[in-house]
Amino acid sequence: MTDTPSPAVPAPASASGSVLPSAPSTAAGLRDRAVWVFDLDNTLYPASCNLFAQVDRRINEFIAGHFNIGMDEARVRQKRFFREYGTTLRGLMVEHDVDPVAYMDYVHDIDVSGVEPSAQLTDALRRLPGRKIIYTNGSVRHAENVAGRLGILDAFEAVFDIAAAGFVPKPDPRPYATLVERHGFDPADACMVEDIARNLAPAHALGMTTVWVRGEQEYEKAGVGAGVHIDHTVDDLPSWLAAVAGATSA
Ligand SMILES: [Mg+2]
Repeated sequence: MTDTPSPAVPAPASASGSVLPSAPSTAAGLRDRAVWVFDLDNTLYPASCNLFAQVDRRINEFIAGHFNIGMDEARVRQKRFFREYGTTLRGLMVEHDVDPVAYMDYVHDIDVSGVEPSAQLTDALRRLPGRKIIYTNGSVRHAENVAGRLGILDAFEAVFDIAAAGFVPKPDPRPYATLVERHGFDPADACMVEDIARNLAPAHALGMTTVWVRGEQEYEKAGVGAGVHIDHTVDDLPSWLAAVAGATSA
């Protein structure tokens, strides 16, 4: 839950399992997938909204307040937690027994008015026939807040959040299995859409089709072409999804 750079994913001995993302892809034939799993932050809304920058600031404020330290020191601690545990929250929970609900409520108390509702995204989600689930390392409350602002909340049957994941964040493979089991779907008939490439690796391992909403931050690109299998690379999710939703099935 931070925009801080994370360590690169180690490259596998063989690159045979990876696909280099190239030009943005179209995807006729995906239209009739039974289930669509969407990440939330910087996926369903563009990073240019700077919404996540607010969350990042709140994270560091939380740490500064919790440990009674300055913001610079808080930032150093936050980076270490993120690096060592995958999310800042995980580090705070493991090392300091921080209450995850209090943390989530604090860091997601943000102003979402900078997020612009997207008519194209709303329409594409409405026309796409499959079940749709939000899968976020954040909270249900955050997802409802943001998706509500985007005008797309009604399109989703569920939010699978960090609490549902037992506070084990993506890309740990365990919550992906929990997601599939809890919502009862065949991963081979599902697509997952994400801006952090390495978060797609466990989805691909389960058999899902993976869609990377190309991010420019190092932590979003880590592992691309080395250890992360990406089936489709997308720069503009609303227009891509509109094309998928309108496509004739293969
Ligand atoms: Mg994201």
